[in-house]
Amino acid sequence: MDVTVEKKLQDLWKLQQIDNKLDNLKAVLGELPMEVSDLEDDIAGFETRVNHIQEEITSLDTEVANKKLAIKDFQRLIDKYEDQLNNIKNSREFEAIDKEKEIAGLEILSAEKKIRDFVKQIDAKNEVLTSTKAALESRKADLEFKKAELTEIEKENEEEIQKLNKDRENAAKKLDERYFRAYHRIRENMKNGVAVAPIVRGSCGGCFSKIPPQRHSDIRAHYKIIDCEHCGRIMVDQHVSGIAAFAEVKEEKPTRRKMRLTTAK
Ligand SMILES: [Zn+2]
Repeated sequence: MDVTVEKKLQDLWKLQQIDNKLDNLKAVLGELPMEVSDLEDDIAGFETRVNHIQEEITSLDTEVANKKLAIKDFQRLIDKYEDQLNNIKNSREFEAIDKEKEIAGLEILSAEKKIRDFVKQIDAKNEVLTSTKAALESRKADLEFKKAELTEIEKENEEEIQKLNKDRENAAKKLDERYFRAYHRIRENMKNGVAVAPIVRGSCGGCFSKIPPQRHSDIRAHYKIIDCEHCGRIMVDQHVSGIAAFAEVKEEKPTRRKMRLTTAK
């Protein structure tokens, strides 16, 4: 039996057990971390909207103020024209100034209409601002609640997670880089995060497909790392996993290849 391969399988299995525990602890958190991050995104979006609406309102307020100043200017002009009109004898000059006064009056009417339009827009924007702010506040309250919940659960498991992360670091150190990478590659492809699977009742403990007897005995021989033909998970036998494969499995005679490898040692 190849001790190095067996040792590698044991180290891989150990790493898998640690990751299983970490995965279970993460599962306890469930959707919470995702919900918290979604809420944070929502809040950032609403805050941007609120700022944007406020800027629009400020710029409309400025427009209104400018129009009011313009009206005052035209009013002053009209007052000046009226003074002039009172002192004019020439009828042509009178008509010209009266025309100017009329134009100033029209300018005031137009500015007043503009102000009414701006005020309408400001009212509408204020309404949107109020509802956006309400939505923002409600998201903030949700976030606070979810964050507190998440912190509480994390706190409960903090010690265990720290210990497992330390164990994981140690287990990873024992594996050579190539196996560690392979383990991760397989694990990333598996929905349940299981890269190293035990043999369970003659089947792959990961995908539950039957393992042919020859492959089964190859796995038990520990002469090389063998994956499941169907799912690609690294297979470990009872000797490594401590999980009984199946009692009724026939003991296979060592194959020629295996005998060669065994004697070559
Ligand atoms: Zn499989």
